[in-house]
Amino acid sequence: MVEYPRREKLAFLPTPIHKLEKLSKLLDGPEIYLKRDDITGSAVGGNKIRKLEYTVADAIDKGCDTLITCGGLQSNHCRATAFVATKLGLECHLVLNKTEEPKVEANLFLDKLAGAHIHYIPSEEYKKNLENLLKELQEKLNKQGKKAYVIPTGASFGIGNFGYIKAAEEVSKQCVEENVTFDYIVTAVGSGGTYTGLSMGQKLFLPKTKIVGINVSDDREYFVEKVKKISKESSAYMDKEIPIEEEVIHIIDGYVGLGYAKSRPEELKFIEDIARLEGVVFDPVYTGKAMFGLADQIKKGTFKKGEKILFIHTGGIFGIFPKAEMFELNQ
Ligand SMILES: *Cc1c(COP(=O)(O)O)cnc(C)c1O
Repeated sequence: MVEYPRREKLAFLPTPIHKLEKLSKLLDGPEIYLKRDDITGSAVGGNKIRKLEYTVADAIDKGCDTLITCGGLQSNHCRATAFVATKLGLECHLVLNKTEEPKVEANLFLDKLAGAHIHYIPSEEYKKNLENLLKELQEKLNKQGKKAYVIPTGASFGIGNFGYIKAAEEVSKQCVEENVTFDYIVTAVGSGGTYTGLSMGQKLFLPKTKIVGINVSDDREYFVEKVKKISKESSAYMDKEIPIEEEVIHIIDGYVGLGYAKSRPEELKFIEDIARLEGVVFDPVYTGKAMFGLADQIKKGTFKKGEKILFIHTGGIFGIFPKAEMFELNQ
């Protein structure tokens, strides 16, 4: 069906799927299932590992010995890259968006624990000049005799995208085994790679399923263009193009809230409610906002009783710790 590029086996796959019985009942709508990509293991879980499997294989095959990537101070992707690099004996450089005075905690602590080299960039400059900054660092390291490979934000690019094409194939096999068909797969959208991979995989493996994204940054228009761009990049590795037309891009805008990685009290309360209801931890930056959005859309009637939804738990648990004090726990 599809010729995958070579991958480094890093994630524990397949990740399990289980039903959120109580939440489904509480919302009185569709049956909600959860795919546990938060326990992909290896570099302590999350969706980025699937993309990094293909990305680092590409880096190694190109003779690179150093990885460079970028993200926010609490980036899950950077933390995953730091651990993957260590595991494979590569040097790791992280270019981080310094939006505030960095506190060495949660993901940032783990980056350092794994031995990554950290480069803090003032936010204004990061926003304006990221591509050049990455290129300059790459050139500098190469001059020192290294061979550095740049991974764009979230590993959301042509090669990393195969991680979620493969995940869609994995879901299709699980559907056969469990004799279930999902009407929708729902995921948070941050840099767009998870959504794009699932959308391409849907065309190959899940003809009856719609892929729905809930963006946690930027807006729908931005991601429509990004999805088209990433899918084009991936198609270059395949013998046929799998175009993702605008008609099949279902991105629900309206749940960014106060902005990327900023939380509203009702979002944190929702995370608390689900933790106590289902024993599952959603993160405040991605999955908490996306599930909050999904619950709201169920209330509004977008998703109905009798339908089945698979929500991808894309990980991010460490993102909850810097916000611990913002939770108003009842006890
Ligand atoms: C990066 C990330 C996402 C978003 O995935 P993209 O492929 O970047 O859109 C969702 N959840 C978590 C926990 C993440 O770290």
